[in-house]
Amino acid sequence: MTITLHKNDLPADVSFGDSVAVDTETLGLSLTRDPLCLVQLSAGDGNAHLVQMDRATYDCPNLKAVLGDPGVQKIFHFARFDVAMVKTYLGVTMTPLYCTKIASKLVRTYTDRHGLKDLTRELIGKDMSKQQQSSDWGADTLSQAQQAYAASDVLYLHQLRDKLNIMLEREGRMELAQACFDFLPTRCALDLAGWAETDIFAHA
Ligand code: MN
Repeated sequence: MTITLHKNDLPADVSFGDSVAVDTETLGLSLTRDPLCLVQLSAGDGNAHLVQMDRATYDCPNLKAVLGDPGVQKIFHFARFDVAMVKTYLGVTMTPLYCTKIASKLVRTYTDRHGLKDLTRELIGKDMSKQQQSSDWGADTLSQAQQAYAASDVLYLHQLRDKLNIMLEREGRMELAQACFDFLPTRCALDLAGWAETDIFAHA
């Protein structure tokens, strides 16, 4: 397993095949307050690329090309946050999307534990540390522990997708899942436009 840290952008010669696992780290959880600091990517081959953003310009044409490529599926855990962040800071609308949290909620109805740590433990049998989750992602120099944590958030998403797809097929919920993934850009647009806390489908 290798973790490669890049400053400002991906190198032009990195490619991820037909699907890439993506996660972001920010200064906090507010879409309007907290800037995007780091974007992590993996081809599902056990290796991770971390791109530390230039927060003055967010100039990263190679990264934007990968994220904006309609021929590459982007796999997330809780895509709703990352998709809104990428839209806001990089101006990229990402499609097609896959979200392991949505897939988990649609098939793992026997539990309410849909965090990445719980999912990875149950479906892959790996224990992830969440110790660095709330560390300072705006720091100029990211520690080894931060880099390892950031990488771990993308290393298992392909395996999780494959396991969840088997369960979605088994339960006849693949179409429902796909429709949810396809709606994500609209859900994020609603979040960014002020409807984050409102369920527009609810009666009240
Ligand atoms: Mn993360």
